[in-house]
Amino acid sequence: GVSLTAHQDASDQDVETSLRPRKLSEFIGQARVREQLELVLHGALKRGDQPDHVLFSGPPGLGKTSLSMIIATELGSSIRVTSGPALERPGDLAAMLSNLAEGDVLFIDEIHRIARPAEEMLYLAMEDYRVDIVVGKGPGATSIPLELAPFTLVGATTRSGALTGPLRDRFGFTAHMEFYSPEELELVVRRSAGILGVDLRDDGAVEIAGRSRGTPRIANRLLRRVRDFAEVRADGAVTLEVARAALEVYDVDELGLDRLDRAVLSALINSFHGGPVGISTLAVAVGEESSTVEEVCEPYLVRAGLLARTPRGRVATAAAWHHMGLTPPQHAPG
Ligand code: ATP
Repeated sequence: GVSLTAHQDASDQDVETSLRPRKLSEFIGQARVREQLELVLHGALKRGDQPDHVLFSGPPGLGKTSLSMIIATELGSSIRVTSGPALERPGDLAAMLSNLAEGDVLFIDEIHRIARPAEEMLYLAMEDYRVDIVVGKGPGATSIPLELAPFTLVGATTRSGALTGPLRDRFGFTAHMEFYSPEELELVVRRSAGILGVDLRDDGAVEIAGRSRGTPRIANRLLRRVRDFAEVRADGAVTLEVARAALEVYDVDELGLDRLDRAVLSALINSFHGGPVGISTLAVAVGEESSTVEEVCEPYLVRAGLLARTPRGRVATAAAWHHMGLTPPQHAPG
């Protein structure tokens, strides 16, 4: 099957780049985060200070990377991009940090996956714009302090709970990204259709927005798949009928759930009688990594009221049973 949420080819990635909002004023939704961020950035600019370090947390595809790039644009500075898994050795991080110019933004995606020694180096860098480089081994080892240019670290994570306390405490501003409303996603797909030159009709926009799992990246991806269908099987216009027929082909259901979301619900209901079941057991049942189930599927299933987290494990709600065309047992939560 074709997964619309997990993978994409290179040309899709280019299109995604062209659809990225470039300025805070172009960024749709997340009104609260935008307002707070604007104050943080403009307050620092006004005083001539380097803005505090910023942490974005939330499910994938909600605009964490876009916002980080916007921070650099708003500050008139450059951005360097890396990720937690790429910073395995402290030397990798030291090289990155020592190459920063004054005022730069350093973006670390998946910051919760940074290795411990690099994380410890980051503490001092964030606090004092300084790192200690250890030269030599054993009793003769010395540490050489290295001054860094003032910079703003922007971290992004899908699991803020996995961050250590000391790291979390060093961010002056933490923003939690929320799922987007259907109305906001409608604005996202309209904007994207304008950029891509897609003939998107009102009812088509509403349909795509309603099936995008609250996620702009998915909204944009569905728009492109529906456009393909409209061009190949219809006259190019994205109407309600065209959107419905296309989304059916791509296995996106009325709630926007994809194959993996439905596999999770189906396993929960059919193999574990609706739960409770632990996340790792559930992940094995659907043949996925627990982190994917926990960070990619689960937040939306919870938000959609289909799955509940209890101290004893994950439970399918009555709505989940109904969605899968089944009658919920008495004990299913409402
Ligand atoms: P990940 O954590 O998986 O990298 P992310 O949260 O960083 O995801 P982005 O890469 O910033 O998400 O956003 C994905 C795509 O969604 C962008 O290319 C952009 O097209 C679109 N997008 C995200 N947020 C918005 C928004 N607020 N307005 C318009 N488009 C958006």
